[in-house]
Amino acid sequence: MSKKSWILSSVLMTFATTGLPQTAWSQSACTSVFENDVLETAARASRRDLDIVPDLKDFEKKFRQTRDPKLIRSARKFFTQKGIKTRFSKEKLHPGLVIEPGGKTPIAKIAAGLANRNIELQYSLEAVSDGAAAMYVPDQRVIYFDANSLGERGPSPLLLHEVRHAIDFTRGRQPEHVFERLMLSSLQMNQFTPVKTAIPGSKTKAYSDYFSLDEVLAHRQSARNFLSILKNPEVSREEWAIAMNWIVDHSERFPHFISAWKASAEIFTLAIKKGQAEILPDARPWTKKKDDEYQWATVRVTDGEALTWFQKNILRRKAVDPRWQGLEMAILISRDEAKKLEKKPAGMNDFFLKRIARITRLAEFLEPAARDFADTVRKNSRNVYSTRAIENSMRRFSERLGESRRQLNENGETEAAGFLGMLEALTD
Ligand SMILES: [Zn+2]
Repeated sequence: MSKKSWILSSVLMTFATTGLPQTAWSQSACTSVFENDVLETAARASRRDLDIVPDLKDFEKKFRQTRDPKLIRSARKFFTQKGIKTRFSKEKLHPGLVIEPGGKTPIAKIAAGLANRNIELQYSLEAVSDGAAAMYVPDQRVIYFDANSLGERGPSPLLLHEVRHAIDFTRGRQPEHVFERLMLSSLQMNQFTPVKTAIPGSKTKAYSDYFSLDEVLAHRQSARNFLSILKNPEVSREEWAIAMNWIVDHSERFPHFISAWKASAEIFTLAIKKGQAEILPDARPWTKKKDDEYQWATVRVTDGEALTWFQKNILRRKAVDPRWQGLEMAILISRDEAKKLEKKPAGMNDFFLKRIARITRLAEFLEPAARDFADTVRKNSRNVYSTRAIENSMRRFSERLGESRRQLNENGETEAAGFLGMLEALTD
């Protein structure tokens, strides 16, 4: 593990969704494919009771009535009583209590794993409102959470979802983690568009105007954690139904991320070939620090004629939507790649075409297992007696992710690597 400090440059935040179930927490099964000390710690620690949650929830109710930021300090004593060390912090975007690494509680162990990656875990009610969510802010290197995210017996699936994002963002900026770097590629509707319309190929309401492909990894993480809830004999029928609903939601999003990426990639590819795309190799210079190894490059399509053509021919829309003002794709490129692109702008088109093709092949490689998981969940979501079919399908999906990760990270950036050959053989 490199000790180098990786400065994150995304201006985008990842928001977890709302409505977290307060479910009992059994053993997490998230360790087989992505070896990961933080999540393993969570899995081991999750058997302990962490009964701080009821106290915190009472406190959060009071906070919501008064909205007095000073109150947050008084929450400290609940943490202290349970042996969780915190310190009050105003350094980040929102004030709150930073969980200090050290100590035997599950949350402190997660904080320790994150601290090794220079990420803070912070209890903040101003960041995540109304007891609904956890949130990772890459620029600030902080995960915000509230009592709901803490879970009654240890970290909740949504907190672990955000932990997954935080780890991917860190890994994607280390040279050896090509897989995570490609998965950090994101799509969004042109940010200057006043009216939001959905990304091409969108199949769900959530994540229809922005998403990063690493949602696939974060959703896999939380889906597996929700699955472990289903297997816990202590959960009530109601808790079981809530967890299953989350799995259904998650399963639908996997094919969504992939099909939206594929449809959009087609648009970007054609636009670059026709000279209708704007390529910005250093699109967010304001987020860049001196020792950044990687930076965001953006491809933007806003050409009116091109957009009309795409709507008719790729999206197969009968009527052209005039509000549809364009799309933006962000990918991480290394400092060396950026330098080369600056010197030799003629090679820029080729570079981006290849990179987009590579990411698309990765998405296509994952597609059959993602669709299989969605189908299996749909067929089995009412079966309260056995979750075996869903678990098996999740395992196949995880193996697929693990295989592509292994191939990409072992072979590095070499385009001649076995990965592409393997993909071509398997995705015909
Ligand atoms: Zn997410």
